[in-house]
Amino acid sequence: MTAAAYAIDHFTAPERRVFRPRERITVSQWAEKYRVVVRGPAQGKWSNGLTPYCIEPMDTIALPWVRKVFLCWAPQTGKTSVGINFMLYAIDVDPGPMLYVMPDEKVSKRIAKRQLIPTIRSTPRTGSLLSTRIDDITSLHVNFANGCDLMMAWATSAAALASESIRYIFWDEPGKYPDFVGEEADPFSLGDVRTNSYQYTSKQIFYSTPKLDGDAFDRLIRSEAEEHRRYHAKCPICGHLQVMAFDRIHWQGKKDHREVLRGKLARYACEKCGMDWDDHARNLAVRSGRWKSDHPVERPTAIAFGPLESWYSPFVSLSKAAADFLKGQDDPKKLQAFVTQHQARPWKEVVESKAEGDLLKRKTDLPPGIAPAWSVALTAGIDVQKRGFWFVVRAWDGDLNSHLVSYGYLSTFEEVRALVFDTWFPKDGSQDRLQIWRAAIDTGGGKGEADDDAISRTEEIYEFIRAHGRRDGKQVVFAVKGSSRPQLIRVNYPQPIDRMPRSNKPIPGGLELRSLDTHELKKLLHWRLTRRDQRVDDAGNVTQAESQRIFLHAETGVDYTRQFLAEELRRSRKGRLEWVRIRTDNHLLDAEVYAAACADNSWHPNLAGLARYVKTRSDHVQRRADDAQRVEDAKPKTPVQAIVQQRVAALRRPAGGWMSGI
Ligand SMILES: [Zn+2]
Repeated sequence: MTAAAYAIDHFTAPERRVFRPRERITVSQWAEKYRVVVRGPAQGKWSNGLTPYCIEPMDTIALPWVRKVFLCWAPQTGKTSVGINFMLYAIDVDPGPMLYVMPDEKVSKRIAKRQLIPTIRSTPRTGSLLSTRIDDITSLHVNFANGCDLMMAWATSAAALASESIRYIFWDEPGKYPDFVGEEADPFSLGDVRTNSYQYTSKQIFYSTPKLDGDAFDRLIRSEAEEHRRYHAKCPICGHLQVMAFDRIHWQGKKDHREVLRGKLARYACEKCGMDWDDHARNLAVRSGRWKSDHPVERPTAIAFGPLESWYSPFVSLSKAAADFLKGQDDPKKLQAFVTQHQARPWKEVVESKAEGDLLKRKTDLPPGIAPAWSVALTAGIDVQKRGFWFVVRAWDGDLNSHLVSYGYLSTFEEVRALVFDTWFPKDGSQDRLQIWRAAIDTGGGKGEADDDAISRTEEIYEFIRAHGRRDGKQVVFAVKGSSRPQLIRVNYPQPIDRMPRSNKPIPGGLELRSLDTHELKKLLHWRLTRRDQRVDDAGNVTQAESQRIFLHAETGVDYTRQFLAEELRRSRKGRLEWVRIRTDNHLLDAEVYAAACADNSWHPNLAGLARYVKTRSDHVQRRADDAQRVEDAKPKTPVQAIVQQRVAALRRPAGGWMSGI
């Protein structure tokens, strides 16, 4: 035992608090002197120089007039250390009852065990105050020898939040707290109530990566911060102070994110002198930078630092930021990750309600039943009704551009079979023909019907897929089901189904069921509607066409567009975004969701992979000969085949008409 610890043992806790001289030291000085980092990329003694933007927030929260500090920062910037350093400082220098709030129970227990307790223990100033009885530090309640008291809680443990008077609250990742209903007391208001008895000495610090525009954390910062400060880096060449904007980062115009990352190609161009900073120069610029506010307030009580983007962090290379940006260009979900994880901005869901007229602008000259020349494969989505089936057939290329080849209604299973297995779609401008490569049929049963009917419909579909799902031994028709819960991937891994839902009869050989994140797939469809064609501006500059554009055949009518636009993304009372049906019939939208799922990268083997294979395949000539033979084989031999082929190609004109120019 050290002499100091021995001496301190002769006083009671309150006496110690009164007698101990306050150390005249700022939080950042304290951290540099005492803090030991136990996890992450910078283990060992804390150094202010590594993440210099942490210094001012740390010291600001300790100022006597400051009650709240908000950090809205990208991951891997060190924001949690700002909170933890202040916590350790307060335990040592200015103890009081503390509450540490995390997103949920599991995370709380993990962080307490893996991060908080080991940090408190390894930092000598706080470790020596820990009780030696092991019980005190394995629970979510830690007592210190100087009377300081640390409770750990999570956002929904309202009881814990409501039971004690608290001086310090550490809000860890409030962006990840679950939604709470408006009328209920939210954790932030409960926190305010808890600190009432420390009106002039309470401190609350919030550190998080943002999530959604308008969520609770976002609203809190907007309503409470009196002053917003942004970090300005200082150019090592010209000395100009600037907020580092993403559009000043460049990477030699490369499109492939792997190339950018591998070659470490990204540079930041100084706003003033235009000189390029590599990662090293960036680190220097950040080290000599500082926080500044456009609208400084005298003695603000609540201050927001940020957003602090990932590219300020010494742990994130400029090329990593650029690569993740490039990934986001072809996938709205990855774009969302870039915005929240790199730009540290809350994600704004923009799904503008579109007019039918706008959708019809996606029409091309191709009549129904014809696949564009660039088609690699066709997918079909089939939405099951009580009596019949709505379907779409969509042609795709390797960049997931797609063209609506056909849509409509079929009455019987036999017609569905004929569509998938007997129908050949000519490719525009060639002798090639395509069959449907993959079809997804929904097994959920007709909506809004008695459960019994729905279950027997599901059984019928299972039977159909069992009996008719394959072509040459290869599965073509797949069972899918919309999921109301969010999924990590849009198309989940197949789940085996080996029994009928009602009769519990075993299904010989079983079948696979894939659940679809319909919320995300609908967002994807709407995002695809915003993808742009190649453009040439007045100066003759060509902007490349974007991937994943959607096209419609020449005869697409309002019957299609009304159903496609039958749902709108709206914010619910809880602040959650939900698809709301604004028209009765949304069947073709569902069918489009299933057809898009068939082509999604998360469904393996995926269509993009098939496209690469087709491109490199050398037996091109042989294939054409085979196809021609198969076309002959597939000429309608039954009345049903004839009906379906007629419906699919209802308006196909004779050769020599629209095809004559080719
Ligand atoms: Zn410069």
